[in-house]
Amino acid sequence: MAQIKLSNLRHSYSPNPSSDADYALKKIDLTWDNGGAYALLGPSGCGKSTLLNIISGLLVPSEGKILFDDQDVTELPPAKRNIAQVFQFPVIYDTMTVYDNLAFPLRNRGRDEDIVKRRVTSIAEMLEVTEMLSTRAANLSPDNKQKISMGRGLVREDVNVVMFDEPLTVIDPHLKWKLRSKLKELHQRVKATMIYVTHDQTEALTFADQVVVMQDGEVVQIGTPVELFERPAHTFVGHFIGSPGMNVLPCEVQGGGAFFGGEQVDLEGPATGVVDGSAEVGIRPEFVSVSQNGDGVEAHVRKVSDIGRHKVVEAIAHGSRVHAILDGEAPNAGDAVKLEFKQSQTRLYKDGWLASTQAEGV
Ligand code: ADP
Ligand code: MG
Repeated sequence: MAQIKLSNLRHSYSPNPSSDADYALKKIDLTWDNGGAYALLGPSGCGKSTLLNIISGLLVPSEGKILFDDQDVTELPPAKRNIAQVFQFPVIYDTMTVYDNLAFPLRNRGRDEDIVKRRVTSIAEMLEVTEMLSTRAANLSPDNKQKISMGRGLVREDVNVVMFDEPLTVIDPHLKWKLRSKLKELHQRVKATMIYVTHDQTEALTFADQVVVMQDGEVVQIGTPVELFERPAHTFVGHFIGSPGMNVLPCEVQGGGAFFGGEQVDLEGPATGVVDGSAEVGIRPEFVSVSQNGDGVEAHVRKVSDIGRHKVVEAIAHGSRVHAILDGEAPNAGDAVKLEFKQSQTRLYKDGWLASTQAEGV
């Protein structure tokens, strides 16, 4: 196992890139610590697979370096990097049994048959495929094929990192949650560095201790699930994580204060270095309260949806849509209401980036 460092990485698929738009990865500096459970989260096309393929050596980056424990591996082929990669679609040998498929990565490296047996048996138990060990892979369901593919990634003890590229795409929805929690458990047992790529926030947040959020070839934030929820560093993270995502409302900054539709909004703390002009207020629906005749921003309710334990209120205030998640009583569509934003959770964003700081002592 090793610490993996990406330094000044850029990648373009075009032979003569001229502008930033020609780069699938714009500029990445990132360190993956030994033994960590990471998720790489971002919408389709943001560069996740490109990044994984650069780590595994399937792609050589246009610029920058990859270091494993300070050893430069940028030019090393995949076989020399000691990495396991699980792809979106199963990669297994149909003519072999499940046992032989799982054994393959070990036999390929000349491991003794008693080690092979011990590892295959233990991985098969973890994945609950023991009774399939003598089945020919061709006869497996797509779900089970992918499980075996994951097992092939996990069977070696000596890998630097196990990387999963959207591995649950082909898995039935009802099995997804089960495999997801299984993977988390496997990480705790196997203790290898794992990078789990997904565009699904639920998958990322349940698996990872640290989530790396990407947008358009760049890393916008690295943090724990709680950090990403509580203090999105960019409005993109605010939108992308949460359901519904963070409310992002246009505002004017004047003399350090933020004004939404002419009304001052109390921010979590000072917005240092923000010049007067347009900016955005960010507040999660969980921290918006709704009352019929209390204080707050005037709004009218457009829609109320019942989502089981909570109700989601969609209101319009000063021409902007504001979501609120309520536990108890909710107003009705058409009602005139007041919206209050919890001050400690009300943030300022300038050009997309977090611009307010928490007040001292919070
Ligand atoms: P993700 O895995 O996040 O969906 P990818 O890394 O596959 O994103 O793709 C990032 C960008 O690079 C996209 O714009 C995609 O169209 C482009 N891209 C990916 N693979 C290739 C390729 N082999 N040739 C040219 N462009 C590619
Ligand atoms: Mg991909």
